[in-house]
This record gives sequence, C-alpha cells and structure tokens, in this order.
Amino acid sequence: MNDLYSKYKSLRTGAVADYIPELAKVNPDLFSICTVTVNGDVLQVGDFEHLFTIQSISKVFVHGLALEDHGRDYVLKRVGVEPTGDAFNSIILDEQSKRPYNPMVNAGAIATTGLIKGKGATERLNRLLEMFQRYVGKDVFVDISVFTSERSTGHRNRAMAYLMLNFGMIDGQIDESLDLYFQQCAVMVNCRDLAVMAAALANKGVNPLTKEQAVDSQYIKDILSVMYTCGMYNFAGEWAYKVGLPAKSGVSGGIIAVVPGQMGIAVFSPLLDARGNSIRGVKVCEELSQQFGLHLFDCV
Ligand code: GLN
Repeated sequence: MNDLYSKYKSLRTGAVADYIPELAKVNPDLFSICTVTVNGDVLQVGDFEHLFTIQSISKVFVHGLALEDHGRDYVLKRVGVEPTGDAFNSIILDEQSKRPYNPMVNAGAIATTGLIKGKGATERLNRLLEMFQRYVGKDVFVDISVFTSERSTGHRNRAMAYLMLNFGMIDGQIDESLDLYFQQCAVMVNCRDLAVMAAALANKGVNPLTKEQAVDSQYIKDILSVMYTCGMYNFAGEWAYKVGLPAKSGVSGGIIAVVPGQMGIAVFSPLLDARGNSIRGVKVCEELSQQFGLHLFDCV
C-alpha cells in the first residue's frame, strides 16, 4: 500500500467536482488508501483522517436499509437492478417497467431514499444516521453547507424526482425525500470510515471493529450484486472486467471495494475522471486487485 501510495501521489490528472463551491475548494493533493479485514486489522496510508462528504457511496447503504424496510421483492418492484451504461445523473428511466434502472444512479437512489420508513423528515433522517453509525462505529454528521448547497442547486435531481412522480414511480413526498437524499450525500466520513463500512459488507453485515450487525446478512448478496453491476456507473463493465470486485464511487473522490469474506478497501482522492470516478482510486484498486489476485473470478 505504501508503494501504491508513493507511485500515484504524483499523478495529478483529472479535476475535482465543482458543481457546488463546497466541493470545488477541496485540496486536490489529498490521497489516502485504507483496508480493513474481516478480523478487524486496519492498514492505512496518507490522509486517512481527512473528512469529506460521502456523496454517492451513501447509495449502497441506503439501498440496504430500504431492503430491510420492505424486503427484496418490493424494492425490486420499485427500483430495477439493470445497469444503464449512462452517467450517474442520467435522466433516462425504465418506462416499460415503471421504475428507475438501479439504486446506484441518482434517479434510482432518490426513489430508494423515498422508500426509507419513518414518521416525518426527522425520524427518517435519524434512521439513516443510525444506520450509517452502525457501519462506521461512531457518530456521523451531515455537513450543513454541502447539504444546503446541494439542495439549492440540485435542479437536475429535483427534475428527475418530478419525472418519476409523473410516471407514478415514486410517491408524493418529493421535497422530503429529496432533502433526505441531499442529506445522505452530505454525511461526513474519512477514508478509514469507508474501509470499515466496506469491511462490514465483506463480513456478512457485521462491523469488524465493533462487532455490531450493521445490516441484515440476508441482504448482503443483493447489495453486492448491484454494486458489482452498477456501482461505477458507465465504467461498471470495465471495472468488473479489470478489478472484479463490487464497488461504489462518489463525486467527492471516494471509492469503496468489497472483497467478500476478506476485507473492505477504500481510496480517497478528489481528482475525478470524466465519469465522476476518482482517478487515483481506480488505479489503486486495479493494482491491488492484480497484485493480490482479488478479482472474484481469479482462479475459478
Ligand atoms: N450529490 C451528488 C448528486 O446527487 C452525488 C453524485 C455522486 O456522488 N456521483 O449529484
């Protein structure tokens, strides 16, 4: 990991997300790699304590909570599991089966967040925060300036929500669900937290440091399947081919990857490629997978 860190520290291609000023002002040099095994061994290098907003990586965990709230049949009826081959913020919807394509693209994630149970906005937010806390093993917070900024500029996400309402794909509480979606994207984590969260997914839903059950183990295969096919958006196919691990990226520069039964991997580097994936993050995961034979179909 130290070798990979040194090798890619000098790679400065790509650009930080700039759709809101709060993300644009991040230091592009920040870089960290962290792995957590199912036994709780932690390896970390670089800026692993630096906090950033989780962004789209949240979609994985909210999908898990929606599965716990409603079961897999109902969730599948409301949100598909089909990769789009399109960008994360693509507006295309599956009008035939009356649902967004998958929970990893924005449209599907907004619909998934809409499924989270609770009496009113506060209870729903608290349920989400408690869920994140089980994965991370400590209190988590929403960055208010990122949240308010996303809310006031998220016209595209708002438009998607209204389109889905028009097609009868989601229910009426659009503003409440959009706020919850913007809040989940603005949850603060560091690279080490992400690796622990990924490790819980590798460990039948149990946080390997606190031993707490973060998500019902019966839904791990649903969560990981969707990550595998859809987690890296329009790079998901090439990622599956080269890295061969369930993964998820976010526009703030995080990537998590899960080696089932073994460990969680997280990389943080805010310089993104055109698809919104961290450039150093992709490189590090490709090399880790090759060097350690982590591809799921290695030696099959
Ligand atoms: N908050 C971002 C959005 O909804 C999350 C997207 C991402 O991380 N890819 O546009």
